[in-house]
Amino acid sequence: MEYKAYTARNFRSIPQIMVLPEAIKKEMEIIARVLPFKSNSYVVEKLINWDNYLDDPIFKLTFPVREMLPANHFSQIENSVNASMPEAELQQLCNGIKMELNPHPAGQLEMNMPVFDGKKLEGVQHKYKETVLFFPSQGQTCHAYCTFCFRWPQFSGMEGMKISASHSDEFGNYLKQQKEVTNVLFTGGDPLVMKTSVLARYIEKLLEPGFEHIHTIRIGSKALAYWPYRFLTDNDSEELISLFRKVASAGKQLTLMAHFNHPVELSTKAVKHAIRVVRASGVEIRTQSPILKNINDSAKIWAKMWRTQVSLGCSPYYMFMARDTGAKQYFDVSLDRAYEIFREAYSKVSGVARTARGPVMSAAPGKVHIVGVSEAAGQRVFVLQFIQARKIDWVKRPFFAKYDPDASWLSDLEPAFGDEKFFWQDEFEAMSHLNLKNAIFQEEE
Ligand SMILES: *Cc1c(COP(=O)(O)O)cnc(C)c1O
Ligand code: SF4
Repeated sequence: MEYKAYTARNFRSIPQIMVLPEAIKKEMEIIARVLPFKSNSYVVEKLINWDNYLDDPIFKLTFPVREMLPANHFSQIENSVNASMPEAELQQLCNGIKMELNPHPAGQLEMNMPVFDGKKLEGVQHKYKETVLFFPSQGQTCHAYCTFCFRWPQFSGMEGMKISASHSDEFGNYLKQQKEVTNVLFTGGDPLVMKTSVLARYIEKLLEPGFEHIHTIRIGSKALAYWPYRFLTDNDSEELISLFRKVASAGKQLTLMAHFNHPVELSTKAVKHAIRVVRASGVEIRTQSPILKNINDSAKIWAKMWRTQVSLGCSPYYMFMARDTGAKQYFDVSLDRAYEIFREAYSKVSGVARTARGPVMSAAPGKVHIVGVSEAAGQRVFVLQFIQARKIDWVKRPFFAKYDPDASWLSDLEPAFGDEKFFWQDEFEAMSHLNLKNAIFQEEE
């Protein structure tokens, strides 16, 4: 299949879109001024059921829908467009709205950037001791954009909001020194939009002497779901698969952290073929997705997704809560509901699919797992724990929040049993003020 990208600029040329009502297309253009979208020929032809597009999960995942913007913002832009507001002014208005939608949640930019040789390492995040995230600058886009995605400021052309790295030497020197790091996670955007030759430069470096402590190289990608031909027929697919083999021959594990949001993304011949080819090259595939209203908020969907993944040799990994950004209200699922969906889906699958963990909030203090809803001392509570934490000592210590059926993020929760703070809160606040790399990872006080 030939890759063809569709954005607000050319989406009217898609045959399946041409036949849609003009009002819908106008709405899509209005939303796209704030929430940029991008789809492609494979998604349009193989994944979306156009007979029922307004209810189609993949349509809603890659094309803008009116309800994704709060009504007041929508009419503000609509009125300005109708009143022929000058383009510069319109852009300013839309940027203001983008800012309100909180493009960089959880203090990611400020808090996790390591310092090496007195310089901040842009495009690197080191939050959890063992794992370093790397955002290669050439990989800061995707094969299609997910309308829920918190990375959208990276694509939406707002200056000063991008995280990316091009100084791979500094990154390498930093890693060589950080002997407790065992994992490097290439992320973006989608690192697999990069040409293989560019990706190889980054990855082969980690196979050189000095990086023996890095046993796992991970790549976070949605290519299997949105463009499986990346592994099959792109003009540098073969080189990509050889690169994967090279990592295995060097004695390291390459793991593809594959994003799949819906079982339909696992249903085509192309994706099944791609999964076989990738696995045959020694790569392990682990799967993750946020839980999203209007897309996958049912136990049946999750159980089917996990079962299909396992049958294809992929291991379910995380169910995430949607981040507080972008079109969150459209995709929002409460903690309570997410937990019930997780529990029911988990109970429907065999042990080999119960490698999934969730629901999980990737919040500033760490990855918080909603373990369950329970009763203690006559109170209904959420039982929570850190799966990853800014301070190692916080991990796996259960803590309790007042049950709140409407809560959908950590910031909505209050400590249970009359406590004023969660056990980790004082230390976390102190770290946030210090904002120093050495305030992180303390094993002991
Ligand atoms: C999720 C995440 C990781 C990886 O966590 P694992 O539990 O090892 O998969 C690393 N760094 C950051 C900042 C993360 O959010
Ligand atoms: S592929 Fe990943 S990074 Fe890209 S838009 Fe989707 S969720 Fe975001």
